Amino acid sequence: MESHDEGRDLLERLFVADAHFDLPLMVLARRRSGERRVIERHYLEGLRRGGVDLLVCSLFVPDAFLPEMALRHALDQVAALREEEAESPHALRLCRNVDDIEAAGASGRLAMILSFEGAEPLGTDLGLLRVFHDLGVRGLGLTWSRRNAAADGCHFHAVPEGRRGGLSAFGVALLAEARRLGCYLDVSHLNDEGFWDALEHFDGPVMASHSNCRSLVSVPRNLTDEQIVALAGRQGLVGMNACSRFVASCDRPDIDALIDHVDHVVGLVGIGQVCLGLDLCDSLPAPDLSSSLDAFDVVDTHGALGYLASAMLRRGYGEGDIAAIFGGNLHRFLKGALTS
Ligand SMILES: [Zn+2]
Repeated sequence: MESHDEGRDLLERLFVADAHFDLPLMVLARRRSGERRVIERHYLEGLRRGGVDLLVCSLFVPDAFLPEMALRHALDQVAALREEEAESPHALRLCRNVDDIEAAGASGRLAMILSFEGAEPLGTDLGLLRVFHDLGVRGLGLTWSRRNAAADGCHFHAVPEGRRGGLSAFGVALLAEARRLGCYLDVSHLNDEGFWDALEHFDGPVMASHSNCRSLVSVPRNLTDEQIVALAGRQGLVGMNACSRFVASCDRPDIDALIDHVDHVVGLVGIGQVCLGLDLCDSLPAPDLSSSLDAFDVVDTHGALGYLASAMLRRGYGEGDIAAIFGGNLHRFLKGALTS
């Protein structure tokens, strides 16, 4: 038996979900160069090999499109996924709630949910959140790693900077609107001031979709123990990020270093608050990548999830633990969070 067979067999039987994947950006780039059925042709085989049932697909707008083209770029990403769904109806389904996700699974289709990774497409127009909610956006990440009208994002490294901010008045209003519409809040990429502001001003479901532990790797993108405990206190989730820069400080971290973060969160708050938010970026279109990051994915592709599951079995996690971490926890979270 290969070293990942056991894990792969297990994942085939389980509900497997990734809470953060920049798929729309990648799909849009390929579609703009004339390709069609991009997900089916480039991603589906690997997703199936990893047993993946659900992807939370983030709408992320690269710097080059800000500010004027942010709305257009986000809408183009939604349109691209809609086109993909229409071209591959037997393989894909854009979902709005857990009923949709379960129906997708029952018919063997990959379920996708939309989320914002930064509120730039809204500009300062509160009313647009309802429009994006109508289009299927269910997760609201206020920022990427930069400042916008809603809040200050955290940087990837500590940088010299002036006084840092938390949420703006628009950011606070946006949280109230998100709560009214039934979106969940995603605090990944917020700076620490914004993290605590957001928890104070939003009493709905909250997660950090793709953030590791700062006590293991001291970068601002990772969460402090205090933040992890606060999220767990709100029944929130912490999504484990496979980006090498957030996994370990050494040059070539591996899957075992990622499991160290799982161990740490489990040790702090238990199995029930961990999910996967792999943030796989190796296949992002190069000009759009934050190339200064100089990082790679320690989980090669979704097709390599079997290696992660196998390594976790070797680490002593049981099948029930893996079921919870690889998808069960996110399923429970979304079932509570998505009401419409
Ligand atoms: Zn991100």
